[in-house]
Amino acid sequence: MTVTRFAPSPTGYIHVGNLRTALFNHLIARKTGGQFVLRIDDTDPERSKEEYVDAIKQDLEWLGLTWDRVERQSARLDRYEDAAQRLRDMGRFYEAWETPTELDLKRKKQLNMGKPPVYDRAALALSNEEKAELRAERGDGVWRFKLDQERIVWPDGILGEVSIDAASVSDPVLIRADGQFLYTLASVVDDIEMGITHVVRGNDHVTNTATQIQMIMALGGTPPSFAHHSLLTGPQGESLSKRLGTLALRDLREAGVEPEALLSLMARLGSSQPVELRMSMDEIADGFELEQFGSAPTKFDVEDLYPLTAKKLHQLPFETIRDDVEALGVPEDKAALFWKVVRENITTRKDMAPWWALFRDGAEPMVADEDKDFIAEAMGLLPDPPYTTETWGSFTAAVKDATGRKGKGLFMPLRKALTGQERGPEMADVMPLLQKVPAKSLAG
Ligand code: GLU
Repeated sequence: MTVTRFAPSPTGYIHVGNLRTALFNHLIARKTGGQFVLRIDDTDPERSKEEYVDAIKQDLEWLGLTWDRVERQSARLDRYEDAAQRLRDMGRFYEAWETPTELDLKRKKQLNMGKPPVYDRAALALSNEEKAELRAERGDGVWRFKLDQERIVWPDGILGEVSIDAASVSDPVLIRADGQFLYTLASVVDDIEMGITHVVRGNDHVTNTATQIQMIMALGGTPPSFAHHSLLTGPQGESLSKRLGTLALRDLREAGVEPEALLSLMARLGSSQPVELRMSMDEIADGFELEQFGSAPTKFDVEDLYPLTAKKLHQLPFETIRDDVEALGVPEDKAALFWKVVRENITTRKDMAPWWALFRDGAEPMVADEDKDFIAEAMGLLPDPPYTTETWGSFTAAVKDATGRKGKGLFMPLRKALTGQERGPEMADVMPLLQKVPAKSLAG
């Protein structure tokens, strides 16, 4: 069975960048009838916060990215200790005491000599006495995984065949000097023990994948199928990293973006398929193929979410939005008509409120100088509200008879006087919604 996972660190809110990872993994599980695990990567007790765990769950639920189970790395520390011990026993794990400054110096020297800045494994050459001395002097060291210096090759679900020379990669640190397990080891142990079959993640993890494949093999596991999606950039190709903070899913939700809009865009952006609004996760999963995604950075423009959001709202049947409409204070008997009138004239749900305010309080009339007399005469012919859907027809017929105006010259000034706007919904439908008509005070 296919088992995928989304593994956020609860150190912040999830944003459009991580959403692709979550969505791709979710879709793979869904398409194959497999399982999707939400794994909370909380091995860092200082930076991990419970409020972010809750927020991540809320955001995923909002999108319908439901999971089959939740796993927490903080509850599995004994498993990581066990794996670390096994690596020690097989001679693949060694302690090292260099300080960050010393490592930095080494890197600079290597770069000056035109060599790649790879850890020189000095700690491997330490005698037992030297180790004891360093331990007495500096306390516990970090633990590094000893890579086999050979080529690591895997068929990547998006990048095609990837081949990395392990000799060009530093032996990764898996345990910090304070004993904290790092994600690299924890993730490997989890992927093996949770039977993860497919891992999709950002291409900033490609080097991790190379080292993790060796760790998985050392621990007797079978590497999952890996795929690395490209990272998002802004519309001009600029880096998004600084802006991701403002592209948190909760900010988009707050701005009125509909989940279907976000999912429809993210499930196709950067692939050879067009972006179209899809109203259900099944529809989204249907055409989803990992191989159709390219490796080039993917341009993301937050503005693209709004036409999709508007399109969703245009199709939304009244019953599904009734509560939102009634929450605005629209009377029950007018609610369905209100929705019919505004749905084509809004981009997000939030745009309903100003429309209701306009109908409830009446608009500030917009009257051109040359229409003043006409409006004064017309308003004298308009009864007081409440109106029906017949009102507009009978009213404009009466105005036409009285003034001789017709067509645009008749309708446009009346629309502007009654709604304060040049464009908008059908006036026949607007009339029954008007609770007050300030323009009537212009009656001559
Ligand atoms: N917690 C890791 C991250 O957010 C997970 C990466 C992975 O999918 O393995 O980068």
